[in-house]
Amino acid sequence: MLQAYACDPRHSRGRRYPQDPAPTRDEFQRDRDRIVHCTAFRRLVYKTQVFLNHEGDLFRTRLTHSLEVAQLGRSIARELGLNEDLVEAIALAHDLGHTPFGHAGQDQLNECLRAAHPPHAGFEHNLQSLRVVDTLEERYPDHDGLNLCFETREGILKHCSRRRAEQLLKREPGGVGLRFVNGTQPSLEAQLCNLADEIAYNAHDIDDGVRSGLLTLQQLDGVVLFASCRDEALAEFPRLGGRRLLFDAIRRMLSYQVHDLIAATRAALEAAAPASPQAVRALPPLVRFSSAMQAQNAQLKGFLLRQLYRHPQVVETTNRARQVVADLYAVYSAEPASLPQTVARHARPHRAIADYIAGMTDRFALREHQRLTGETLFP
Ligand code: MG
Repeated sequence: MLQAYACDPRHSRGRRYPQDPAPTRDEFQRDRDRIVHCTAFRRLVYKTQVFLNHEGDLFRTRLTHSLEVAQLGRSIARELGLNEDLVEAIALAHDLGHTPFGHAGQDQLNECLRAAHPPHAGFEHNLQSLRVVDTLEERYPDHDGLNLCFETREGILKHCSRRRAEQLLKREPGGVGLRFVNGTQPSLEAQLCNLADEIAYNAHDIDDGVRSGLLTLQQLDGVVLFASCRDEALAEFPRLGGRRLLFDAIRRMLSYQVHDLIAATRAALEAAAPASPQAVRALPPLVRFSSAMQAQNAQLKGFLLRQLYRHPQVVETTNRARQVVADLYAVYSAEPASLPQTVARHARPHRAIADYIAGMTDRFALREHQRLTGETLFP
């Protein structure tokens, strides 16, 4: 049952290229299906979340991460009376613009574009996700992109600088860039996806961190959210240890965060009583954790940053991944003949090269790198 504050597909702000309604699906279900069937979605399976794709078969990839975000998002949306299909569509698309090798790839590509002659605006994965669904997917005879609804695109563009937002507004007056200029919020479904993303990666990065051997259960003693869940698991199953203890603690962590988010958001919704999705956009963010959970999350994030994302072994891999992206960009810029013809002939070659590299999977980027430089940076 949709609440009055939920996005209703019958009142969508619509698509750039108007289309007749589908006989069996509403507009947000249709968007979700377009995303699942697009090329960029299938590439997510070979893209890094934290650990590189070839480092192990069981680490999260961008695809399994996106599925976890969709699962968490849908569960919470159902409880709050939000639109589950819209949440699912946004969650499945939220990382489509990620480069190979995770944030390392993005940062390097950004540097390459900024150093280009003439200097280019740079690279940012949220904007790239929007660019994938608006422009880069080639699936329809009469237009570029997936022609998604405004509400789905609004959720995909999670962050955007004011300068970029102003550029977007020139092309799309009153469009998805507007809220970054006038300081308003997106739909509750979009707000929810942001926090479901956080819940998902905080939990699975602990799992992957321990699996990789870079984190130990002892180190996690100091992380309040994890330690309290582990103690609870041990109180119920005193002889529990190893992976089952880890999983049980993570499972409890996920539940606590989900239940906390639902309770805090419900209270905020009751207090603000927005009568429509449009009213939601004019209010402060309503999808939220309690302040106690926010503090625990912040502590966990700080721990992951110091102990995992900045672990010397992760940093070393990151540096080599950046080298791959930098080399690809340099070779493609200097020798357009090494590019596919459609990329080489593009009117804006730097942007086309960035789009081409951003679209690569980890392993395709490594193969291209080896082909073009003769070097093997990841034996
Ligand atoms: Mg994500």
